[in-house]
Amino acid sequence: MKLLAIYPGTFDPPTLGHADIIERAHQLFDEVIVAVGRNTSKSPLLTVDERIEALKGISKPFANVTVDSFEGLLMDYAKSKGARSVVRGLRAVADFEYEFQIAMVNRKLNPDVDSVFLMTRWEYSYLSSSVVREVALLGGETKDLVPQSVQEILSNAVRRKLSSVD
Ligand code: ADP
Repeated sequence: MKLLAIYPGTFDPPTLGHADIIERAHQLFDEVIVAVGRNTSKSPLLTVDERIEALKGISKPFANVTVDSFEGLLMDYAKSKGARSVVRGLRAVADFEYEFQIAMVNRKLNPDVDSVFLMTRWEYSYLSSSVVREVALLGGETKDLVPQSVQEILSNAVRRKLSSVD
């Protein structure tokens, strides 16, 4: 049986931390689906299509990684794909409490799917999409925060956002 994992998230935008999790997950599982959640209450900087394009750029070197999006419950999506694992990244103790709660609820919803946590790499432990958005919107340099393939998509989204508030 193939080991299939879903790596779900908002990815607004994907960062070097996300890219590192994707790179490590692709070595642990036969197949990984990076899945952009569509039904978030947050008002995003990048459109879902931009996030998918950015994640495809990151995943290009890995033949067993695909990118998709989903709506509704993650556990229903995991079931529809036949996945047994959901990968999440952990940065700090603060992440743990939230992730623990979600993992417990997800297990109630679908006991067949296990949550698998990968620790962030030390150098990305400070990195979050919200920090990247803030730096980018204030005109800061983001080349050490997001993968090369995400740079242009992020700049375009920032330009669009700034021109819409003028
Ligand atoms: P969500 O809104 O679902 O938390 P995010 O896009 O913020 O979506 O994060 C998706 C996943 O990636 C989460 O499990 C998060 O903990 C993980 N993650 C985010 N940033 C990093 C990082 N720098 N290192 C490792 N994992 C990370």
